[in-house]
Amino acid sequence: MSDHHVPPSDPADSPEAAPTTSASAEAAEVRRFWGRLGLPGLVDVHTHFMPERVLHKVWDYFDTQGPLIGGAEWPITYRAEEAERAAVLREFGVRAFTSMLYPHKPGMARWLNGWAADFAARTPECLHTATLYPEPGVEAYVREAVESGARVFKAHVQVGAYDPADELLRPAWGLLAEAGVPVVIHCGSGPAPGKHTGPEPVARVLERHPRLRLIVAHLGMPEYEDFLDLAERFGEVRLDTTMAFTDFTEQIMPFPRRALPRLAAVGDRVLLGSDFPNIPYPYLRQLQALEGLGLGDTWLRAVCHDNAAVLFGL
Ligand SMILES: [Zn+2]
Repeated sequence: MSDHHVPPSDPADSPEAAPTTSASAEAAEVRRFWGRLGLPGLVDVHTHFMPERVLHKVWDYFDTQGPLIGGAEWPITYRAEEAERAAVLREFGVRAFTSMLYPHKPGMARWLNGWAADFAARTPECLHTATLYPEPGVEAYVREAVESGARVFKAHVQVGAYDPADELLRPAWGLLAEAGVPVVIHCGSGPAPGKHTGPEPVARVLERHPRLRLIVAHLGMPEYEDFLDLAERFGEVRLDTTMAFTDFTEQIMPFPRRALPRLAAVGDRVLLGSDFPNIPYPYLRQLQALEGLGLGDTWLRAVCHDNAAVLFGL
């Protein structure tokens, strides 16, 4: 990539670069990771870009109460201006990423979708993202988003506090299933459960729309095995790796080792996700955590790049 900045081998050689040295050093390591696998870069289906004031509210939440994980600290590693955050992903060699955003109340999704369309237009690596909420008019704005080129949706069952099988959403799910547009859905009960989180409401959605391309965020943690069941039952269900297997997550929601063979078996439907920038550790840790599973380079190549490249036609 032409915008790849090679980090100075010795920071003393270029003192003016000193403030970014550690970021550059991390970028070099991330590039080494995918370079070793022979990939052209990474595809990350779970990154957050949203209007600044919404993002700052999210950061305030992590700062003040944490995501209800027993008071554990959650320092945001990549707290920076929007352009700088996008530049970090570019330096990492993330060929394509998303702008996961989601409403917590009615009347917000259409506005978020307008912002996200604009963000994608000025950010070539961003897969145009949209969102939805059970409310009158949802089918119309989902159709608008799809017709204007949205390539992925985000749904957040815990923050939105809605039943994904809500009747109001039925036409929207139908439309997205028909169009084959994937939906990253945070529907597991981690790190904080909600009234409608867990596998059961999602199973009801899939029974009605078996071809809906749901990408279960965070591997469905902590209900990992229940969501693996759904992936095994429904061939269009995928899982994103966001935060899974990192030391941070393993301490609070460990992935059951007995389920590793099942994760290997659905390896063509597991997608790299990171939660950048809202992660309490460096980006590289997510990659190392995946490598540490020992599922092999073929699995890693598929997860870190190839599966998403096929899904999004990159
Ligand atoms: Zn997220």
